[in-house]
Formats: sequence, C-alpha cells, structure tokens
Amino acid sequence: MTMIDQKKATIAAQAAGAIDLSTGGVVPPIQPSTTYARARDYSLLQDGNVYGRDNNDAVRLAEEILAKLEGAAEALLFPTGMAAIAAVFRTIPNGGTAIVQSGIYWGTTKWIRDFCTRRDVTLLEVDASDAAALDVLCAANPAHIVFVETPSNPWLKTVDIAKAAQSAHAAGAKLVVDSTAATPILMQPLSMGADIVMHSATKAINGHSDVLGGVLATNNADQTWQDVAIDRHDAGAVIGPFEAWLLIRGMRTLPLRVERMCENAMKVAHFLQDHPIVEGVFYPGLPTHTGYELATQQMEGGYGFLMSFLVKGGAADALQVAGRLNLFHRATSLGGVESLVEHRHTIEPHTGIPENLLRISVGIEDAQDLIDDLGQALGQ
Ligand SMILES: *Cc1c(COP(=O)(O)O)cnc(C)c1O
Repeated sequence: MTMIDQKKATIAAQAAGAIDLSTGGVVPPIQPSTTYARARDYSLLQDGNVYGRDNNDAVRLAEEILAKLEGAAEALLFPTGMAAIAAVFRTIPNGGTAIVQSGIYWGTTKWIRDFCTRRDVTLLEVDASDAAALDVLCAANPAHIVFVETPSNPWLKTVDIAKAAQSAHAAGAKLVVDSTAATPILMQPLSMGADIVMHSATKAINGHSDVLGGVLATNNADQTWQDVAIDRHDAGAVIGPFEAWLLIRGMRTLPLRVERMCENAMKVAHFLQDHPIVEGVFYPGLPTHTGYELATQQMEGGYGFLMSFLVKGGAADALQVAGRLNLFHRATSLGGVESLVEHRHTIEPHTGIPENLLRISVGIEDAQDLIDDLGQALGQ
C-alpha cells in the first residue's frame, strides 16, 4: 500500500509514518534549536535546516500531515488562525478588492475591516450562503480574494463551495475557505474548487485547548501562495517546534475525536430541538436547518460539533441557563475534547447576535451526561 492509498485515520494515527530515525523512538522528536550547525567546509549538516524562523522538522511534519488530511499539495502553519488569515489578505495589493462573507467569526470580520480600511482595499460583505447574491456581487466586482466560512460561526450557515469557486473565479479572485468548524476530516474544500483552505488549528485540529495555531493549504502553489510563504518567513509569523509537536500529537486522534463529537452533537441537537424552553437550534445536521441539504452534500461523516440555540426569553434567561451548566465550561473557543458554552452577545454586542443565543461546542464526553446537564440548566 502506498502512502497515497492511506485513509485519514491511518495518516493521523501514524503521524504520516514518521518515527525518530536517530533513536528508533516511535514518536518523532522535538528539536528546539533556533539555529543549525555547518560543517568545516561550511556546508549545512542537514539540508533545509539553517535557522529556526526558516523551518523546523516538527513544523514540516505537522504540515505534511495536514496537507495529506486535507488532500492538498502544500500546507503552511502559522502561530494562530488569525495569522494565517492575515497572511492571505496581505497578498491583496493596496487599492484592491476583497469579497467577504458577512456574519462569520467575529475576530475575522473585525480584523479584515480594519485591514481593508488601512490599506485602501474595497471590502464587500455579503451573505455568501446565498449563492446567487455572491454570484451577482462577483460578476459586478473584479476582486482579489473571496473569503467564506462554512459552516459559519455562530449561525452555522452553509456556503456552496463549488458555486462560490465559480463566482470567485469569474471575478478573477481566489476562493479562500475557513473550514475550521468542519475540520479536514468532514470536508475537503480544495476538491470542490477552493483555492486555499484555512483552519484555526487552535480548535479541533489540536483538540485539547492547549495550542494556538493556524494553517493554510492549497493544491496550487502559484505566485500568491509563494507570496504568502515568503511573507510568513520574512515577517516571522512562524509557529514554534513545541506547538507543532503538540499538533502532531493531537492530530493522532483527530478522526476519532471528530467522529465522537459529531455523534454527541447530533444527539444534543435533537434534544435541544425538542425542548420547550428552546426556540430554535442552528445545526447543519438537523433537516430543519437551511443549510442541511448542502451540508449533506459537502460534508462526509458528520455535521460537526458546533451549534447555536435560542433560549426562550432575553439575555438574562440565556445567561442563567449558561450559569447553571455544570459540565459545559463557560468559555470562548471550540473544537476541544471538553464541551464549552458561550453567550456570543456578551462578546460582540453590536453585531446582530440575538441576546438569547447560546453557542455550544460539543466535546467527547458521554452524550447522556451532556444532555442531562443541558436538561437541568434549561429546567422542565
Ligand atoms: C478561532 C477561529 C479563528 C481564529 O483562529 P485563532 O487560532 O484564534 O487565531 C478563525 N476562524 C474561525 C472559524 C475560528 O473559530
């Protein structure tokens, strides 16, 4: 069996086959050196290893695993998801145009708005889950980048990636997909026409809420990609070897964790949907959700672990429910083994998030324990 034939579970569990060849350890080592020695004739002791900002074996290996899981030719790691997004946007020339999905991860929207203002980049925001609206905008506006997030956060909207790619390409733009909530396990945006896929590796890819990281992957290492790689190196937005090593370790169980989180999330979503104190559940795995059919086409193996729901009443009622939860930690972020709950309106009060919305990230705990916890918190 060649490496190409291997399924994601095998690639992840075996760290793409890497072991420590110098000792025989089945776990690849961490090499924390910031610099690498040269021989007396000044040749490198190991090709490619010059200085810590250039590269590191753990970073290279983590990137190789991520590229394989994503079905990509190349992947680049960054110290955070935002650094990965920023690296892509910095390829837009001053005075250029970006088309960005509205109502996505607030940190992304906030930074992009600020960046575009500073750099005189025209920013057009659109509900990209409306494929026709995105197409009309792209047809009328030559652009450099079209950026979408699917499933989106916190609305769990689904964007048709194949259609978005057509629209973006008609505008002369690259389609960049933030696939954080889907992970490389559930969805492969590059195979649907996306030019670059992005993840916050801080979330499910690492999965243990103890590493910050971001990743970009592509099948087309063209000039834009080279510019991103050069900017990462020259401007120094690199991830450290310890973080890369923890990512390699975390990813060994990524397919298992995602499978369990999806199973749990589906059970939790059905429980919430039937609860009298809950007004609405946003989860792409529920047939009542607007993005259900598209998510079923685009995602394989589950609908993810992220969902939002509306508690009957206002902010105080939602906050009371959050306050009564015992298992769900009240904390931002998502994709970890432990379940989290967040009152998004408190975090982004002026962006149209309903006051009674709670977003949860479902972990790998026992599903019935999670449901019991939500049940006692909701009352009735
Ligand atoms: C967390 C997150 C980001 C930002 O990633 P960081 O690692 O926190 O910088 C971007 N997009 C989505 C969807 C996220 O959840």
